[in-house]
Amino acid sequence: MLIPTLCLLVATVSWAQTGTAQSPSTAADTKAVDFIPDVISKVTKTPAEWRKTLTASQFQILRQAATERAFANSFWNNHADGLYSCGGCDLPLFYASTKFDSGTGWPSFYQPIQKKVVSERRDPDGERVEILCARCDGHLGHLFDDANGKIGIPKTPNGLRYCMNSGAMRFRKKIADRPKP
Ligand SMILES: [Zn+2]
Repeated sequence: MLIPTLCLLVATVSWAQTGTAQSPSTAADTKAVDFIPDVISKVTKTPAEWRKTLTASQFQILRQAATERAFANSFWNNHADGLYSCGGCDLPLFYASTKFDSGTGWPSFYQPIQKKVVSERRDPDGERVEILCARCDGHLGHLFDDANGKIGIPKTPNGLRYCMNSGAMRFRKKIADRPKP
């Protein structure tokens, strides 16, 4: 019984510490937006610092704008309810409720939790719109406006498709679990 008791104690203490700024209520009425600051302050690290906290593939995607293979990534076929956040800084990005089966082999969403959690940048060749984390400027994927049911991509409420890399994100099943920047 000693270990479970200790774990419970640690969990209680840690919750008390992290819950001071914003008192957590029940899991049911806590939303990820509660964890998004009004003003998003930039997280900046050197490449060497990023390499210490990211895996090699995370670094290639988030910091070097690589694209992972379709149908061979963690979340393309994940249908669990929950929350997707930035793999670099854990800023909440997408609710699983806005994820849809795009058929592309990459996790696809039709809108971020709030518009301000991502930033958009035109690719150098002008072809595509890159999506980055608004806090750490990590490369997440690209935005397309082809989710209209005409070219094989299912129709979304706004016609948008945020085509993301699984390796650029974290996933947690409980939305109420506070992200740890
Ligand atoms: Zn980030």
